[in-house]
Amino acid sequence: MKAIQFVEKGKATIGEIPVGALPPGHALIRVKAAGLCHTDIDVLHARYGAGAFPLVPGHEYAGEVIDLASDVTRVRTGSRVAVDPNLPCGTCPSCRKGLTNLCRDLKAYGVSHNGGFSEFSIVRADHLHDIGDMSYDLAALAEPLACVLNGIGAAGITDKSSAPSNALIFGAGPIGLLLGLALESAGAEQIAFADINEGRLGFASSLGFTPIASGSRELLVSERAYDFVADATGIPGVVESMINLVADGGTALLFGVCAPDARVSISPFQIFRRQLKLVGSHSLNRNIPEALAVLSGDRERMSRLVTHRLPLEAMVPYFLAKPSDPATMKVQYVDS
Ligand SMILES: [Zn+2]
Ligand SMILES: [Zn+2]
Repeated sequence: MKAIQFVEKGKATIGEIPVGALPPGHALIRVKAAGLCHTDIDVLHARYGAGAFPLVPGHEYAGEVIDLASDVTRVRTGSRVAVDPNLPCGTCPSCRKGLTNLCRDLKAYGVSHNGGFSEFSIVRADHLHDIGDMSYDLAALAEPLACVLNGIGAAGITDKSSAPSNALIFGAGPIGLLLGLALESAGAEQIAFADINEGRLGFASSLGFTPIASGSRELLVSERAYDFVADATGIPGVVESMINLVADGGTALLFGVCAPDARVSISPFQIFRRQLKLVGSHSLNRNIPEALAVLSGDRERMSRLVTHRLPLEAMVPYFLAKPSDPATMKVQYVDS
């Protein structure tokens, strides 16, 4: 089968590799759509995961079940499915608490095991979720949206009554916009986006969000203005400055991935006196079904987040250099 492979640290190629044998409990899926994520680049450079080369990357994917191990009854041949890529150990302290995303030995398709940037993928059948009549490209957004829902849940937002009355998100890229759409689905009414790029702000505005230029006066006078502020840029300076914008009693969510050695300065007195919540969020914790429900309720706007639907060959350059066009949102391999 044709597949993208990370053959060694920093080196991505495309070529033919064997499909492999189907172990018990597993299904063979024909990959129909797979999304590119920053994490893939970190995997390529061995900054995320153990550097299990050679590796087929891709942890955001959906496809059709075409073969099953004889012991699998949970899914059928022909099922249209999205993949939950996380493979927690099930026995460490975090797993025992139900925090499978924080597993000490977390493995995942596309990180430690071959993932979705290939014609076929062998996946544990209990990691497949039926997508009904949803298009595959939309279903391939279930994984990043599930990460967003894990973050929203960590922030204590579970329904309309716990949704913030207003929210500000830094970074109008695909993950920030998924966060905005998910917050809206949870019941938040006023959601603003701050970004340095006008084109991205225009896109956020077309989705119904309030655009605010980063560094603008409007932002500077917004001290204590938002019940919920999130960083989706991974820029330490943004994280540091966003705390002042959180309303008393409000929440700051650190969703963007800052460099492991980055440090910021915050005032503990401010956190204490204004009773702020600083919330972290990592990966997804079995949120795919919930993500599919949110996607299903907002198909038109969600599918606009996918700006590139490409054959496998055309994906390779995206692993090697960041797209220069800020209008690039989610880039997907789509089997046509
Ligand atoms: Zn991802
Ligand atoms: Zn574990």
